[in-house]
Amino acid sequence: MRFEIITIFPEFFGGVFGHGVVKRAIANELIHIGLHDLRDFTHDRHRTVDDRPFGGGEGMVLKPEPLLEAVDSTGVAPKALRDTRRESVILLSAQGARFTQGVARELAALERVVLICGRYEGVDERVNELACDRELSIGDYVLSGGELGAAVIVDATMRLLPGVLGNEASSAYESFGAADAEFASDSDGPPRSTHGAGGLLDYPHYTRPPEFRGLAVPEVLAGGDHAAIRRWRRERALEKTLRNRPDLLERAELSAEDKKFLKRLKSEV
Ligand code: SAH
Repeated sequence: MRFEIITIFPEFFGGVFGHGVVKRAIANELIHIGLHDLRDFTHDRHRTVDDRPFGGGEGMVLKPEPLLEAVDSTGVAPKALRDTRRESVILLSAQGARFTQGVARELAALERVVLICGRYEGVDERVNELACDRELSIGDYVLSGGELGAAVIVDATMRLLPGVLGNEASSAYESFGAADAEFASDSDGPPRSTHGAGGLLDYPHYTRPPEFRGLAVPEVLAGGDHAAIRRWRRERALEKTLRNRPDLLERAELSAEDKKFLKRLKSEV
């Protein structure tokens, strides 16, 4: 899969893509990341990428001409001819739709994603109209640029691609994972190391030492009772989701047992 990032700070990405899973995915040619310096698409001596806003007001706005040229240079099809099942041009924007694990799964199905990083007060709106398929925001706060957003989208998307994570099942069985329905039927064999997601938050994880600063690892995890471990993990996932993200419970697939457990939890608080 190819990611093309259009930015005035290409050096920004050296650090974020130079480590861990992303670095390995690049080295193994599972993903390719193209960095495009917006200033390379200017034609004046000062390499101007911004200008004052029409209508007045604070700050500067990224000009449309270099951005459109940069998008064209990535080789992506013009918007009217684009097959959005294969490629997509995305504008990072605080006004965008929320980037979620679901959107990451959609993007992971594409061959190429072009990410446009805004700066200053934002991007001339015609860039959005003429070149972009969607606007995405990584959360309800305002950043100083789209680069962090682009890095977040690349990271969350590429780790869903086949072969990127060591264990293929890992990304299905974690927070916001898609493996809810399977939970009920997965009743034999050792419990998976990361089980307990599917619209829920992940359950808590423990490793050695068994006791640390007076806190012991929950006893059930050290025993060999797989059914008990599964039940414990499911209950902790439900508990954490109820505490930190109760909104997720409304959409999660819950068994009768889950509902009973939640009812008991709610009555305790
Ligand atoms: N005036 C804009 C904010 C501009 S911030 C507004 O009020 O909506 C400058 C750039 O940072 C934006 O163009 C966008 O590319 C990026 N940015 C800011 N917040 C973001 C967010 N939550 N998600 C993704 N990109 C964001």
